[in-house]
Amino acid sequence: SNRKLGNGHNQESALQLFVNAKKKINDIFRNIGQYVLEADKFVQDVTSVPECSVIVGPENSEVVHGFCEKIDGITEVLARDHMKVVFFGRTSNGKSTVINAMLRDKILPSGIGHTTHCFIQVEGSDSKDGFLLTEDTDKPKSITDIKQLASALSDVKLQENSLIRILWPKEKCRLLREDVVLVDSPGIDVSPDLDLWIDKFCVDADVFVLVANAESTLMQTEKNFFHKVSEKLSKPNIFILQNRWDVSEMEEDIDQVKQQHIDRNSDFLAEELKVTDKKGAKDRLFFVSAREALASRLNNDNVFATPERVLLPGFQARLFEFANFEKEFEVCISQSAVKTKFEQHTNRAHYINSELRTVMEEAYTKSLSLQDEQMQLRKEKSDRLSHLDRQLDLLTGEVKNKIKAMVEDVERKVSCALND
Ligand code: GDP
Repeated sequence: SNRKLGNGHNQESALQLFVNAKKKINDIFRNIGQYVLEADKFVQDVTSVPECSVIVGPENSEVVHGFCEKIDGITEVLARDHMKVVFFGRTSNGKSTVINAMLRDKILPSGIGHTTHCFIQVEGSDSKDGFLLTEDTDKPKSITDIKQLASALSDVKLQENSLIRILWPKEKCRLLREDVVLVDSPGIDVSPDLDLWIDKFCVDADVFVLVANAESTLMQTEKNFFHKVSEKLSKPNIFILQNRWDVSEMEEDIDQVKQQHIDRNSDFLAEELKVTDKKGAKDRLFFVSAREALASRLNNDNVFATPERVLLPGFQARLFEFANFEKEFEVCISQSAVKTKFEQHTNRAHYINSELRTVMEEAYTKSLSLQDEQMQLRKEKSDRLSHLDRQLDLLTGEVKNKIKAMVEDVERKVSCALND
């Protein structure tokens, strides 16, 4: 394959499932939008001719007009749709490092003195430079490098429940280009308002990543949070990263420790939260070193020259595990986002289509009987055929044909787009 490590250019990824579905559903709505506009104009034309106004009643013309606004609304929501992953865990477990490793760039400040005090959302932007947006102003602050970002972050007044958005050039990072939005959270050990956190940041999340510390077991605060999440959202997708595995793996009895983590974490996901079964839970658990993953990616051309203190013995297996996590994650997030985000849109498309069809078919039937009436009338006063009669006849004939063509056209376009 053309899979290429490093900056991820030319990489065919599972995320394309979402990206392509979004393109397609955009096209479908553009088609429906055109059709609805055309139908709306047609209906207005018809109702403006008094003799033809019986063909489309006022309720129906309102229905058709309403669809124009509906389509506009859906198109707007569609443009904003993305895949969202939120990272949780105790302070210093390595959340920022995990995000940087996935982005293959040091974007978020990490380490001592850079504890994340608020939510930080990294999303793609089409501009060439990165910038930062806070909730208190619409004014973006420009960021050119990590040092400046770190100081910009400490400049703004941070509240635990506030959100800072980092808009980072899409061209620099594949995940952002492919519509993934990554959210870092304050440490879960800061006694947060969990309900608010969930309502404000999690209801539209497709995937949750718990960054755990391999040196200790899950804490009750971490567990409580995910209990609440799974009460509010049905079957959330949760991954658990046992991070800092580079340090743990140096210890004795490591196999036993690893087994313990596996048992406890799969009990947590399968038996406590019931978000997956036992077997599935094992596929959601990864033993990684985000620090090594980041270092190797930043030094991709020269992995072995990376200072030894960064890549500890056995690092290859951990890098492999990290890449495995990313693969599973990409499959999971794109499938989930397509389902939760686009299923509703598809249902709405079907609804609008069938409503319009009903209106048009009713108009068609009415125009047929109007034409019949006309014929009847004409027979009765055949020698006094007026200009108006002829006009009316032409018009109803045209209306009839046009409606028929429209019904057929939209049927074909929409059904074929939705079904293939
Ligand atoms: P956060 O508070 O959860 O965002 O944690 P950070 O990402 O800021 O990481 C805290 C510290 O742990 C930093 O100094 C990182 O370099 C370090 N760190 C992160 N991941 C690992 C890892 O896998 N192994 C080791 N040894 N250190 C790590």
